[in-house]
Amino acid sequence: MLLDAGVVTRCRRRVHLENDPTMRDAPTSPLDLGVEQRIADAVEHRRSVAAQLGDLLGAQRTEVPRGLPYAERATLTLDAMREGVGYISGAQLPDDAEGGRRGAIDLLVRSGNGYVPVLVVRHKITDPGRGAKTSPIEHPVPEAAEADQTRKVRPQPRDQLRLVHAIRLLEACGFDAGDRTGGAIGVEADAVVWHDLRSPNWPGGRTALAEYDARFGDRLAVATAAATGDEPLAQPSRITECRGCPWWPICESQLREANDVSLVVRGEDATVLRERGITTVDQLAGMPLESAEDLQLTGVRNTDAILLAKAWLREMPLVRRVRELDVPRGDVEIDVDMESYADAGAYMWGCWLSGTNIDEEQGYRAFVTWEPLPDDDEARSFAEFWGWFTRVRRTAFERGLSFRAYCYNELAENRWMLASAERFAGKPGVPPVSEVKEFIHSAEWVDLFAVVRDQFLCPNGKGLKVIAPSAGFGWRDPEASGENSMRWYRDAVALDGGERDLTQRERLLTYNEDDVRATFTIRTWMTSEAANEIPYAEDL
Ligand code: SF4
Repeated sequence: MLLDAGVVTRCRRRVHLENDPTMRDAPTSPLDLGVEQRIADAVEHRRSVAAQLGDLLGAQRTEVPRGLPYAERATLTLDAMREGVGYISGAQLPDDAEGGRRGAIDLLVRSGNGYVPVLVVRHKITDPGRGAKTSPIEHPVPEAAEADQTRKVRPQPRDQLRLVHAIRLLEACGFDAGDRTGGAIGVEADAVVWHDLRSPNWPGGRTALAEYDARFGDRLAVATAAATGDEPLAQPSRITECRGCPWWPICESQLREANDVSLVVRGEDATVLRERGITTVDQLAGMPLESAEDLQLTGVRNTDAILLAKAWLREMPLVRRVRELDVPRGDVEIDVDMESYADAGAYMWGCWLSGTNIDEEQGYRAFVTWEPLPDDDEARSFAEFWGWFTRVRRTAFERGLSFRAYCYNELAENRWMLASAERFAGKPGVPPVSEVKEFIHSAEWVDLFAVVRDQFLCPNGKGLKVIAPSAGFGWRDPEASGENSMRWYRDAVALDGGERDLTQRERLLTYNEDDVRATFTIRTWMTSEAANEIPYAEDL
């Protein structure tokens, strides 16, 4: 039994299923295309950082060829460590048969009498601030670390646990892992951020080392029980991770068969309910509302849990939480939807103008850059969006008309409006950050997601694609999804080289237009008589 670093952050049931020999041919769902793309992007990032380190470190560094068989790579890594090579890229550490673990690490750095592990990741590992311990990328050793005056550490628990995994493997093959420090090179690849893994900065004052050891021991027991056919140590229970998990078809049918309470109340709350003997949706739905106060749930209001269970049993996608639905409306209205590509930028701002005619063409328009991100042309498209948007807002004001703009979950739009104003400050038409802040904090900016969340109970989720069909809206593209749009974008701008696919541009524009039409449809439906046909929760 040899487990990789991923098990410590993976669902326990998934660890069971992956190690249960009777599940070997079970029908799982294919990996989501968006997830597949993210994996490919991460591989590419690691390759590019390895090449960068090759240029910077020259003969002090060796690279274990990735295409070789696994055992051969482990032997080459061990040989390089025994020779005391300064930097080993693409290291495959020898298996720790006794500890039950195996694993690779992007970079091993010679430090003191041994090695320290360094991960290469494609996410942000710092934020503006101060205090992170960093070394310059051209001298990536802990001895060169200093307190950074421009960056603070962005907590990435998963990275820290992966580093401990590598440290346990180093110890197992007899190498000194120094003072239990591990490094990470993030998406910017301009420095190494060092983590002291003995620091008691985990919940309960634990260290990353202790947290890892506890989790790994547990997952090893789960996997061993699964492999040997012992009583399973992990049962399915719906959690956030289920959404992208290949085992969902199997877990879902098991949960449905049992009418499991986690189908309605997921995560920790399901555990709390089970501990109180409430294991099925029927039991939850049967609870008197007056007894809800004792439930002590955290992810959902106590009475909502009972009402959600009732709605779920009646197969209702929506239930009104309030007698009278209410969405702030304006004389002039714009629905806004932004499309971004990972952390690289926001390439499209789509808008649907409706309401009183103010001599602007009504309907859909998109402000877009088709230059592969990151690219400064993004500043041009953002400035054009902001210029048009501000003009409509100002015209409405000058004509004595009220104005409202809508999005579905403002986190993404706010993030990229602020980030664009910051990154492109001083470029033509780009507003100051203060102007963007003034708008997003104003009553003119309405987050329709929050409105839906506050006024409906939604047993199947509150996402735009889940809610809009209740308002009678459907997407023209049967494959419309945020994850798929990432793939279309890559083809549209030829991010992987080759020809730019113009049909995918059209597809993205249609997808974006349907998103803004969906928010338009939901809010106009919510303020019409038709929405009153949705049952009221307390009448259930
Ligand atoms: S579907 Fe959910 S419960 Fe089942 S293995 Fe995956 S994450 Fe775990």
